[in-house]
Amino acid sequence: MKFDTIIIGGGLSGLVCGIKLQKAGQKCAIVSAGQSAMHFSSGTFDLLGRLPDGTAVENPSEAAGRLDKGHPYSILGTEAVLKYADEAKDFFAECGISVSGDARKNSWRITPAGERKPAWLTLGDFTPLASKDEKIGNRALIVNILGYLDFNTKFLADSFEKQGTECRIAAVRLDEMERLRKNPSEMRATNIARVMDRDGIWEKAALQIKELIREEDVVVLPAVFGLKDASVVDKIRETIGVRTIFAATMPPSVPGIRTQMALRSEFEKAGGRFFLGDTVTGSECRENGEIESVGTVNFGDIRLHADNFVLASGSFFSKGMIASPSKIYEPIFGIDLNYAEGRGNWFDGCFWNRQNYISFGACTKDGLHASINGNTIGNLYVIGSLLGGSNTLYEGCGGGIAIITAMAAADSILNK
Ligand SMILES: Cc1cc2nc3c(=O)[nH]c(=O)nc-3n(C[C@H](O)[C@H](O)[C@H](O)COP(=O)(O)OP(=O)(O)OC[C@H]3O[C@@H](n4cnc5c(N)ncnc54)[C@H](O)[C@@H]3O)c2cc1C
Repeated sequence: MKFDTIIIGGGLSGLVCGIKLQKAGQKCAIVSAGQSAMHFSSGTFDLLGRLPDGTAVENPSEAAGRLDKGHPYSILGTEAVLKYADEAKDFFAECGISVSGDARKNSWRITPAGERKPAWLTLGDFTPLASKDEKIGNRALIVNILGYLDFNTKFLADSFEKQGTECRIAAVRLDEMERLRKNPSEMRATNIARVMDRDGIWEKAALQIKELIREEDVVVLPAVFGLKDASVVDKIRETIGVRTIFAATMPPSVPGIRTQMALRSEFEKAGGRFFLGDTVTGSECRENGEIESVGTVNFGDIRLHADNFVLASGSFFSKGMIASPSKIYEPIFGIDLNYAEGRGNWFDGCFWNRQNYISFGACTKDGLHASINGNTIGNLYVIGSLLGGSNTLYEGCGGGIAIITAMAAADSILNK
């Protein structure tokens, strides 16, 4: 089988790159082993929330210029980061995904624990806050679905009350949810969303919630609506009739999964081939060291050939990188990685401290090209969270790196 470009990994970065290439006329395939970080998404994409020295960032596009030279944003340059960040909003709109946000000014999102974190692009389900201390309203009604444990109403109430919002907690009980409630492990966000998606159920829930309102000027709900169709979220807001804020739940993330499905569908609509549930196991090289083909579990002896390959296989979480007791390696091509020698330097014993291993990853050459034993591989690009050089969790820049490096690699391939 022969393609113009084969992308390994169908998470955020692989899909953004694939859509851009496919829409520009390339014949692309994405091979993806399984779930991606999008299934755990907070509902926002982060561009840059904090510098490595801990300084809070207000204007990510300006602060990107103050990062170390190994950081993916420094590799691309601030001008390119801003260009792709601006392009991203139109990109998502064209895919039918509603986002708001500005690369020149961070907004704030509410975490499932009620904390506030800087955000760049916020999915339409959620309400970005203009400042860390913004009050969501004078009186809030926080409504859970009876029996759902992954939405911590008390944490949220404590956090809103700090900003001066008086909170009341309530729950709705729906007969249609009773089968799930028999087994608490079934009461997960995606299962609830599947029931809510059935004809009339979300409407029934919204009308019950409306009935519960007394003097509240804002309603807070878990983001468990509209797994297939984002418009359900707007319809619920309309039915309830007062300001309605959806708060992120513990994983799985309904808005994240919906976004992943929308991106995949956009890629396939443009003619791309998405091989889900298949794992790339190895590669064959040409004499000049470039990649000729890759093999996968499902294709067996049939090799997948392409002019260019994009490695979007993620970090440890997605098995894009593997840690053994003594070394860290990338399992498909064996590309060069940057990581600290000595296992003791990989992590801090205190879970809450900054963890070094998060900044480990691929070191690239001449832009986003992978290297093997120091030699640049001209037709192999690395994008997304497999790239090293940034502590995405500490700096709050994971989504931005995934989207921006994906767009940059696509342009690099198209301009070849
Ligand atoms: C749990 C979690 C939650 C996060 N939440 C957020 C958030 O809310 N906002 C934010 O900005 N950032 C978040 N991040 C940071 C995140 O890394 C990026 O936002 C981004 O989604 C990463 O996308 P990616 O495509 O690089 O990698 P991934 O999403 O990890 O996708 C990699 C894909 O490659 C596939 N793969 C791996 N090896 C192979 C192989 N050999 N063959 C075929 N396929 C393979 C995997 O199955 C997976 O589907 C989160 C990260 C994690 C780990």
